[in-house]
Amino acid sequence: MKKPLLLAITAALFFTAAQGLRAEEIVKNDLIPVKIYIASHDDVYKFNALGVNIEELREGYIETRITRVKYDELTSLGWKVEPREEERADPKIISEYHGYNWITVLLDSIHAAHPGITKKISYGKSYNGHDLWAFLITSQPDSILNKAEVRLAGNIHGDEVVGTEMLLGIMDSLTNFYDSVPEITDLVNTREIWFIPTLNPDGNLAGVRYNGHNEDLNRDFPVPDGGTNNGFVADIEPETQAFINYWSSKRVVLSLNYHGGALVANYPWDYTLVRCPDDLLAREVSLGYARLNTPMYTETYDYDNDGLADSGVVDGADWYVVRGSLQDWSYHATSGLDVTVECSVNKTPPKNQLPTFWNDNRNSLMYFIRQAGWGLQGIVTDSLTGLPINWASVVPFGIDKPVYTDTIGDYHRMLMTDQYDLIFTAVGYHEKWASDIRVKIDSVTNLDMQLAPILITGIVSDSAGGIPIPGALVEIVGLRSDTTDSTGVYLMRWNQDDHYSLKASAAGYTTVIYDSLKFENDSTINFSLSTDSGVAGKPGVNVFITRLEQPFPNPGRSEVHIRYQLAAAGPAVLEIYDISGRRIKSLPQGSVPAGAVRTFTWDGSDQSGKNVPAGVYFCRLAAGGMTKIRRMIMLK
Ligand SMILES: [Zn+2]
Repeated sequence: MKKPLLLAITAALFFTAAQGLRAEEIVKNDLIPVKIYIASHDDVYKFNALGVNIEELREGYIETRITRVKYDELTSLGWKVEPREEERADPKIISEYHGYNWITVLLDSIHAAHPGITKKISYGKSYNGHDLWAFLITSQPDSILNKAEVRLAGNIHGDEVVGTEMLLGIMDSLTNFYDSVPEITDLVNTREIWFIPTLNPDGNLAGVRYNGHNEDLNRDFPVPDGGTNNGFVADIEPETQAFINYWSSKRVVLSLNYHGGALVANYPWDYTLVRCPDDLLAREVSLGYARLNTPMYTETYDYDNDGLADSGVVDGADWYVVRGSLQDWSYHATSGLDVTVECSVNKTPPKNQLPTFWNDNRNSLMYFIRQAGWGLQGIVTDSLTGLPINWASVVPFGIDKPVYTDTIGDYHRMLMTDQYDLIFTAVGYHEKWASDIRVKIDSVTNLDMQLAPILITGIVSDSAGGIPIPGALVEIVGLRSDTTDSTGVYLMRWNQDDHYSLKASAAGYTTVIYDSLKFENDSTINFSLSTDSGVAGKPGVNVFITRLEQPFPNPGRSEVHIRYQLAAAGPAVLEIYDISGRRIKSLPQGSVPAGAVRTFTWDGSDQSGKNVPAGVYFCRLAAGGMTKIRRMIMLK
């Protein structure tokens, strides 16, 4: 028989004293906590330019910390600024929550009870030297398997503690009901479910927002536009750096991080009003969370101030702009869609309200874990060896956000229900398309893909008599090498990502090097070597590559010119697509000779001859079983 959840957690811990609050001395600098009053929601968009970093947006004012100089500057500009008390959670209340030390013990006890499906790791240390715990729940936690990775984190603001309790709750459910509830068995077997109950041990222990260095960790991540966070944070904090180091190498599909102070699921981007490439999906997944959380779904506060019901979700920057959030970094740098879940208006409600919060969030969390493994998935392998390809990229045409394969070649791509063309690429391989793939948001479409390596071959021969030279060494300098066989032939994989030098040498012959070669297709390069005493060999190069140049002018006004070349003679087709991936024109080119450079002029009309609207378009060249794509902008 299973005990009720929260009771079970409490009963597992015998020593509740000495938990929670250890009064950490927060390093003070010269930042003053203030309220800045605003007249309307539009005012929140002025703070970026003022170099002010919004910490919380409240009704009628923002909360932040500023220097004395900034204080005077804002006041002189007419802003009403007043000091406020530094937030600090009520020690009595917060000690009833699972503080950092308690969490540490709890993770050990869950692992001890369920060693076969859990693993606890430290991915780094906080500013004050506390371990940053991540906890994995999955079957065979020490094996790398074809599973979607999902990350559930919280407490990056040390005083926002409700989310941590929700995470501990779902961890308890997943482990205790693994054997008895089929859905949980399935999720634990088919997902890697990672937990970070507290991203900020220093703040958690002190009951404050910041880490031990008095920095806001959710303003500390690299901003996708490469800029800084309003100059507030000079260095990356150890918690942030450790997070980046550890999670950059993972392929997290979906993640959330819990906050408190509001009741809304906030999706990328935080740093810009521009919509993220997966805007529809990000909104849908956030809605999926909110729909199952009645107070969130029915919350009446209008976060984006558009006069419409939010249904519990908001685009981050529509609420207010945040530069340096974990959410934006995660989606930008790792393609892991991250949702900021504000799960309680009151950051530290009394403990007796936690069962209600658990009730409100439990199904949402289950939905979220489920969602991470839905959509498109498959394994990408090398067509010659059958081995998995790591870091192969998978892009749905028209959505500018690749996901990447893991070390065993598996990828997972959540997508809205629709039909997609998928582009598979990897360094050293021919690009490959899969067309008209039907994907649904609430089930799994499997699509395995084999990629063919790009090969370079040729004969090394004696320049005098044309006799093949066996045993000659041919090197792609810095990459790999091959030795010619008895017929003088070498064969190697080629990487299309950069320029390489190709070098042939044989005993008694003068070495020949071709510098700065770049091929995107299979190529042949022959070497003609002369004996050491003779003159240098002449290159026997006769190589054409299939290429599609950047259309010009770009942007174009009434027309653009599209230039291309084929590696081998054959039919070619140029097609124009719009930003949503819809083909708007097909331009068959007939049969084209190898190596001939052809230019085609597109007049900006669609198949029916109608002028297309201004916008971003893609030109796609298909010939000889391969495709090339260029993006162009059409102005009108
Ligand atoms: Zn927060």
